[in-house]
Amino acid sequence: MRILVTGGAGFIGSHLIDRLMEADHEVICLDNFYTGRKQNVLQWLNHPNFEIIRHDVTEPIRLEVDQIYHLACPASPVHYQYNPVKTIKTNVMGTLIMLGLAKRVKARFLLASTSEVYGDPEVHPQTEEYRGNVNPIGIRSCYDEGKRVAETLAFDYHRQNNVDIRVARIFNTYGPRMLEQDGRVVSNFIVQALKGIPLTVYGSGQQTRSFCYVSDLVEGLIRLMNGNCIGPVNLGNPDEYTVLELAQTVQTMVNPDTAIEYKPLPADDPQQRQPNITRAQTELGWQPTIALPEGLKRTVADFQARL
Ligand code: NAD
Ligand code: UDP
Repeated sequence: MRILVTGGAGFIGSHLIDRLMEADHEVICLDNFYTGRKQNVLQWLNHPNFEIIRHDVTEPIRLEVDQIYHLACPASPVHYQYNPVKTIKTNVMGTLIMLGLAKRVKARFLLASTSEVYGDPEVHPQTEEYRGNVNPIGIRSCYDEGKRVAETLAFDYHRQNNVDIRVARIFNTYGPRMLEQDGRVVSNFIVQALKGIPLTVYGSGQQTRSFCYVSDLVEGLIRLMNGNCIGPVNLGNPDEYTVLELAQTVQTMVNPDTAIEYKPLPADDPQQRQPNITRAQTELGWQPTIALPEGLKRTVADFQARL
């Protein structure tokens, strides 16, 4: 198949491309290199099945493809809040344009949505039926509400134009190739521990997240794309940790001498987050296989090699 991956030079996109290339597909990587890097797909640059296009998804483009994985959008709060209007444009206009492309060429379209559609959840763990608790005017809204509109667009293109859609709600994912200055918690703690500077815990550190290793997540995306369930489907690792527990785990693993420093909690930071993955288990036969200590070990090794 010929497969388009938007945001393909980013963290998850580049791991997805590795799997698609290894399965002998033709892959087009489309990226504006905001948080992505050519380095992430370097190994495929001279491969005859691989093409890379510098392009912004908010601008129309004509391509002939069989499947579209739509991942283009900065995922770290630091990067999506840097230019919030651009983040909204990417989520709304970018998704609209990619759905239009899917409609024209009759391609199957997978949206990389997010657990952020649940906002600061009042239901725990989060099931796909839960409609969420999102602040529409907060500093996270450009991303949360942007993704909620992206989901709406996907379902309306499906109902109105028969576009073949799949919607994944991705929970916190980590692994090799995250940027050193990505700003998300796992990469921050690892970089800080490796540099021997204090680990920055925001708030009390009692807020929770559930961390999924990137290879597990990519397996879930591929199963969703090629199965019959349109979703939305939660994809994440249900093992839940407080942010402080994560800091202590990284500290013990990398550098027990580093301190923990408390910083203010950013506005609207969700207090708890854990996926209910029953739907992914029953519909896709999918569940994560890599526990946090093993995933962290691999991620630390990657940062160690790069720093
Ligand atoms: P990332 O920032 O590493 O990758 C995003 C990629 O999209 C980058 O390569 C970036 O340059 C590109 N991009 C951004 N705006 C673009 C635009 N307007 N046009 C073209 N390319 C653009 O983030 P990631 O962690 O790999 O996330 C990938 C997708 O998965 C995102 O849609 C994100 O919302 C979603 N997601 C990720 C997580 C996670 O924990 N990593 C969780 C939930 C959802
Ligand atoms: N966080 C932290 N220190 C950091 C970066 C993040 O304590 O250096 C916290 C953040 O406040 C949040 C959690 O870690 O409670 C996860 O943050 P991240 O930005 O990784 O993802 P998201 O909030 O989007 O889930």
